[in-house]
Amino acid sequence: MSKERIIVVGAGAAGLMAAGQAAFKGTEVLLVEKMEKPGRKIAISGKGRCNLTNAENVGDFIQNYPGNGRFLHGILREFDNVRLCEFFAHYGVDTKVERGGRVFPVSDDAEAVVQALLQFIAEAGVDLRTNQTVDEILISDGRVEGVRLNNREVLKASAVVLCTGGGSYPGTGSTGDGYRIAKKLGHKVITPRPSLVPLKTMENWVKELQGLSLRNVEATLWYGGKKQKTEFGEMLFTHFGVSGPIILTLSRWAGEALAHSEKVELKINLKPALTPEQLDLRLQRDFQKFANKQFKNSLDEILPKSLIPVIMDLSKIPADRVVHQITREERKRLAQLMQGLTLTIKETLPLAAAIVTAGGVDVKEIDPKTMASKCIQGLFWAGEVIDVDGVTGGYNLQAAFAMGYRAGRAASEYLYSRV
Ligand SMILES: Cc1cc2nc3c(=O)[nH]c(=O)nc-3n(C[C@H](O)[C@H](O)[C@H](O)COP(=O)(O)OP(=O)(O)OC[C@H]3O[C@@H](n4cnc5c(N)ncnc54)[C@H](O)[C@@H]3O)c2cc1C
Repeated sequence: MSKERIIVVGAGAAGLMAAGQAAFKGTEVLLVEKMEKPGRKIAISGKGRCNLTNAENVGDFIQNYPGNGRFLHGILREFDNVRLCEFFAHYGVDTKVERGGRVFPVSDDAEAVVQALLQFIAEAGVDLRTNQTVDEILISDGRVEGVRLNNREVLKASAVVLCTGGGSYPGTGSTGDGYRIAKKLGHKVITPRPSLVPLKTMENWVKELQGLSLRNVEATLWYGGKKQKTEFGEMLFTHFGVSGPIILTLSRWAGEALAHSEKVELKINLKPALTPEQLDLRLQRDFQKFANKQFKNSLDEILPKSLIPVIMDLSKIPADRVVHQITREERKRLAQLMQGLTLTIKETLPLAAAIVTAGGVDVKEIDPKTMASKCIQGLFWAGEVIDVDGVTGGYNLQAAFAMGYRAGRAASEYLYSRV
């Protein structure tokens, strides 16, 4: 007979929440973490500031999960952004709302979020073991019996909550172990792939723009011969291609299209607030003002400095052409370039460099009411290891916390139902 306790595997956002919730319901909980310190991914999240959720109306939340948002419907309603902020406030982490509804600790310190969770599990009486890697889930008669560590030690338990995270940023401990464990248990795993990841481009001129950040621009993804998705906001040029919030959001679809060998293009509208006619009028005005200057000295008021040589080059208008000699056709070409700067996407950066993993344990095999496996009794799943992913803005952590909340409580109820 297994010892009547729960083992939670992985002390990330989902695992810490699950362990604390189960223990607060009076269950004995052992939380096993492979790294020396728990919550390493939380600590680096939001560039060290931890964008822990989003202030958006919870009714509109689901649309921010391109990966199986519907699975999260009831889960996010039960433990929503308001409850999450109340939870952290209770443990001393007050929050503030920034651009795009992004919620951060007032202290701008992701480590404070980890400390709050550690205080929570300590108060709940969770036994935390770090530097221990779970290698296998032990099953007998279709039921969980415990886990085996990679040092062969066996730890008995009547229920296991698997919260091993995705496969990105493996230095934080999330090395995709859950996928291997899931397959061995007979669970279907949807091929893990990078999401929220920078994009590499064919065009080498991006190198010249390295470090240039553009605000209030529109980026549109084209594949399959048509316009697919548009995002408005901030983006960044890097030495290999493009990154920044709107690019990360589009990357999920770019990756999918590339996997189907499609030609993927990104068109950047540098002046989305203007219609083509308005932009043409604006250029006419600027060209009148600078009529006797050379073309290379006429764009300072309409484009960021580092972008001017690139746009000039692509426009094929000679840099030393006197502005009043620029033809109407050339001006139109320039305007088109400003509203459709085209990049060909070569590939995404690898999974290791992604903010989240799309794919994972198939949601069809998990009961969203309890997070219980439909394949094995006593097994529960929570967090990024599941085939669920959100866009940037705090949605991924909110989902991990909410799934952990539900899984921890349900695992505890499962234990009580057995006695
Ligand atoms: C750079 C970066 C920035 C991010 N910023 C944000 C943000 O600001 N807002 C947001 O919402 N999301 C953000 N995310 C995404 C978010 O951090 C994750 O979606 C979230 O942490 C997933 O939580 P999780 O508990 O499922 O997995 P994780 O937090 O990855 O935790 C999994 C844990 O399991 C442990 N583990 C793995 N295998 C084993 C094993 N075999 N045995 C024992 N332990 C194991 C790992 O060591 C790890 O501690 C960011 C991600 C990255 C990489």
